[in-house]
Amino acid sequence: MTELFVRVALDHPLPTLFDYRWGASQPAVPGTLVSVPFGRRDVVGLVCEVTTHSEVPADRLRSVNAVCTACPPLSAEWLALAAFAADYYQRGLGEVALPALPQALRDASRWQRLLAPEERYSLTPQGRAALPDVLPARATALRNLAQALAGADFLPAADARALHPKAIATLAAWQAEGWVALDLVDAATALPAASSTTTPPRAPQALPTLTGEQSVAVEAIRDARGFAPFLLHGVTGSGKTEVYLRALAEILAADAHAQALLLVPEINLTPQFEAAFRARFAALADSAIVTLHSGLAEGERARNWFAAHAGRARIVLGTRLAVLASLPRLAVIVVDEEHDPAYKQQEGLRYSARDLAIYRAKQLGLPVVLGSATPSLESWWQAEQGRYRRLTLSRRAVADAALPTVRLIDLEEERRRGRASVEGLSGPLIAALKARLARGEQSLVFLNRRGYAPQLACDACGWVAGCPRCSAYVVLHKPERALRCHHCGWESRIPRSCPDCGNVDIAPMGRGTQRVEETLASAVPGARVLRIDADSTRRKGSAQALFSDVHAGEVDILVGTQMIAKGHDFQRVSLVGVLNADTALFSHDFRASERLFAQLMQVSGRAGRAGLPGEVLVQTRYPRHALYHALGRHDYVGFANSTLAERRDAHLPPFVYQALLRAEGRTLEAALAFLQQAAAGLAGIAAAERVTVYDAVPLTIVKVMHVHRAQLLVESASRAALQATLRAWQPLLRNLKGVLRWSLEVDPLDI
Ligand code: ADP
Ligand code: ZN
Ligand code: ZN
Repeated sequence: MTELFVRVALDHPLPTLFDYRWGASQPAVPGTLVSVPFGRRDVVGLVCEVTTHSEVPADRLRSVNAVCTACPPLSAEWLALAAFAADYYQRGLGEVALPALPQALRDASRWQRLLAPEERYSLTPQGRAALPDVLPARATALRNLAQALAGADFLPAADARALHPKAIATLAAWQAEGWVALDLVDAATALPAASSTTTPPRAPQALPTLTGEQSVAVEAIRDARGFAPFLLHGVTGSGKTEVYLRALAEILAADAHAQALLLVPEINLTPQFEAAFRARFAALADSAIVTLHSGLAEGERARNWFAAHAGRARIVLGTRLAVLASLPRLAVIVVDEEHDPAYKQQEGLRYSARDLAIYRAKQLGLPVVLGSATPSLESWWQAEQGRYRRLTLSRRAVADAALPTVRLIDLEEERRRGRASVEGLSGPLIAALKARLARGEQSLVFLNRRGYAPQLACDACGWVAGCPRCSAYVVLHKPERALRCHHCGWESRIPRSCPDCGNVDIAPMGRGTQRVEETLASAVPGARVLRIDADSTRRKGSAQALFSDVHAGEVDILVGTQMIAKGHDFQRVSLVGVLNADTALFSHDFRASERLFAQLMQVSGRAGRAGLPGEVLVQTRYPRHALYHALGRHDYVGFANSTLAERRDAHLPPFVYQALLRAEGRTLEAALAFLQQAAAGLAGIAAAERVTVYDAVPLTIVKVMHVHRAQLLVESASRAALQATLRAWQPLLRNLKGVLRWSLEVDPLDI
């Protein structure tokens, strides 16, 4: 019998596969997970190829230790997707494939437990009737346990133990009483628990009658054959979600095994979508709709991943990481808010989930729907060229819901006329907030800066509180009584006096969400003010609780960062105030205005959704700026086309393709020297003749955590030439020394 060898991908920066003897009794199949010796350790790898011959000398070949039988092999299509992502983003296959798998699969010591049955407790009818009443009122732990049992279809033993260390003993006693039943379920293939944290669906609605534009969109998606990229351009509140729901319903009804993938940019948007999908697809088992995002507990994420991999999950709702889920019967992909920068992973494998979704649809010959009120200029340009089919929803879906009126408040003029303002809130804005409060309507105040004040400064000597580890100022956080560095997390107490000159009158400069929250509370007496930003939602589940308060009408004024701007369907918001938008108008980053415009359109879109007339007030020093004028006319198309024309003239994306080489050194000189050597190395690469190389420059925040950072931009009008250059460049970069770290980013968003 000929000996078999396998080529295995490992999570390792070297972009090669590693050969091993197979030796195992079962047939060798690509896509199988194996445990293999690597150096002095055992690591988990993915079999990519099976062969009868290896170039590695026989005495150096080692054998596969163990085969993961708990996980059916990943498909050839999935391996091809991972290989494409690795190739395009200049990484090793294993660096892409292995991190895309659930943690439990990447640790061979846990494979046995994956196969071991999971213990699940559920309430019997007797238990449901008896349990809460027989418990003493003060037995909080027991009550929590009973509640957890009542709140879901079943309670896994591990979750019970997490509630209370002695939970299992209690459950055994309850089992003896006949109140709970214990089931043993094959863990790897078990159906996921119906999430107990899901927002309860709103009262079952009759299906809305689609608008003409919605019908056209749904039919186009349903009737698509083969690879069919759609750009669903729909103004805020135009009912894009309804289009997704109907199109998916048609596609899933046409094939009883078909799977749909819907990507959303933010974890916080998943509950809203999950509720809408569960309500609409009530005929599907609860377990046929699963979520995949980084906020899930590890076990839940693994179960949901398996449900997708096994084809049991019909609808997968997830954030960017879900684009790499294994979906053997994938039939349609939706990317909601496709313009959102959150689809770009900013560390490790710096991929764009939107771009991979397009690739995946192309690879499998599927429809893919990119939805947005403000498409990225990349996608808009594809549609302009006819490569994506454009579907337009030009009006709001709800009868009477018009787009809000936009009013610019000229801060210079307010000042010239000596009109009163309170701590950066102009008179007209305060008056408008008070009017909404009097009418019982909600308002939203948006500014993209968290914390209390971005700087703490001394008037006497000019000292400004800075981070000892970064070249950045630290942000004053008043509720937490701390100065915090937003780049490295460094924290200290607020000094009582200036450390340089002893002056006790040190004062906050500028405004963040905490300070605006404080100002609003006094400027709009009687208003219930709620702040939503990364600080107020740090605890798991707290964002959802806060958003529910808004939906329940327990909040009059919501103040927050872009977290409140995205996607939420607030029914009673009739006013949106925008503070501090000007800073992005004159940024060195050519994408800043695109991002600002999208954010302002998004946040404006929260106003007046349910028929209340909506108004947006933008405080600015530049009321004549073209961006604000386009905003006032809700003119995405005008903004997009004029910005595209500028980009074309300036040879910027999407008319050129870019990549960034970043280096981190102990000194800035070291980082720059590395980049200069790297640039010199391009001279020997043929494809680089069609690539423009810029000067190596320090990053805006040059030092973070004592590490100095610099970057080198390369670009080309030819994607192929850029790709070939990067590929040939890598071995050379690996040989260069002198820096702590370097990385390549393809299609960077922040330059
Ligand atoms: P978008 O995602 O485009 O901003 P949504 O999908 O959130 O818009 O829809 C906005 C509102 O319009 C929602 O409350 C939704 O229930 C409602 N809606 C959508 N389509 C229709 C329709 N055809 N008729 C009536 N209401 C609709
Ligand atoms: Zn001082
Ligand atoms: Zn810092």
